Amino acid sequence: MILTITMNPSVDVAYPLERLVLDKVNRVPNARKTAGGKGLNVTRVLAEVGDQVLASGCLGGRLGDYIEDNLPENVESAFFRIAGETRNCVAILHDDGQQTEILEAGPTLSEQEAQDFLRHFEQLLDKTAVVVLSGSLPAGLPTDYYVRLVNLAQQAGRPVVLDCSGASLEAVLRSEHKPTVIKPNNDELSDLLGFEVTKDIDQLKTVLQDDLFAGIEWIVVSLGAGGAFAKHGDKFYRVTIPKIDVVNPVGSGDSTVAGIASAIFHQESDQDLLKKANVLGMLNAQEEMTGHVNMANYDKLYQQLKVEEV
Ligand code: ADP
Repeated sequence: MILTITMNPSVDVAYPLERLVLDKVNRVPNARKTAGGKGLNVTRVLAEVGDQVLASGCLGGRLGDYIEDNLPENVESAFFRIAGETRNCVAILHDDGQQTEILEAGPTLSEQEAQDFLRHFEQLLDKTAVVVLSGSLPAGLPTDYYVRLVNLAQQAGRPVVLDCSGASLEAVLRSEHKPTVIKPNNDELSDLLGFEVTKDIDQLKTVLQDDLFAGIEWIVVSLGAGGAFAKHGDKFYRVTIPKIDVVNPVGSGDSTVAGIASAIFHQESDQDLLKKANVLGMLNAQEEMTGHVNMANYDKLYQQLKVEEV
């Protein structure tokens, strides 16, 4: 079973509008609502791939109920209930491709809730083979909260795929408790290192040998339409992908994370891990819905990827 953790989920609301008119009433005939948050995207994609998933994290209030009620049927759920209300995140899709987002901060966890979730997480590890930690931390949790989760997973001998950014990622990288895999994109790498990281192979090779990443078994840098670059131990790989028609690339990184977790769960080879991760990212980019892949197109795309050791 793969355990996914979403600490700050949301009900994502999409408002498609031909034109957004400020300071006036805008009526939306076809609003869409989905269980959101990076970890829930990973969860949905893993379920579509056919892997057994246990989804956890923190949920509160009516929106928390909505998320739990709308998980895919083949997903087991073990969310931790908090007193605060799960948030809404609103994306207004308007005026020929513009996307204006309104993101609520979400609930603030109490110190007691933060402690209790650690115990909850520890218990879930018993029936888990791989752990995925995704997304931002809610208010009330210390920046190093993921360090604690990584530590508990490590003590239980479970590999961890971590996909977060900013201060919470830096806290993990600077700690002694290393996740098995991280999946930064270019921008996240640049933020972390304080200079611009491009898609240049030589630069990426140098960057991934920085002390900051010492002790992390796998680093998969996703490069959008440019595929990916990865380091596994002392091996480096470049993944070249074909050009595809993109509908909505939001959630492609989460789909890539799902592919990585699935491949680790099934103990697949380096080549297969990188292919699975990229194919799922691409399949997500071909769909309108975030965190959704059409597995009917999987094999065809899989044949078209190239993974080379560089
Ligand atoms: P993130 O969402 O974390 O920024 P990326 O945009 O790098 O992640 O997407 C993850 C993966 O999804 C890429 O490595 C690639 O395989 C696929 N992908 C994303 N965007 C595109 C695109 N425009 N064309 C083709 N593949 C894409």
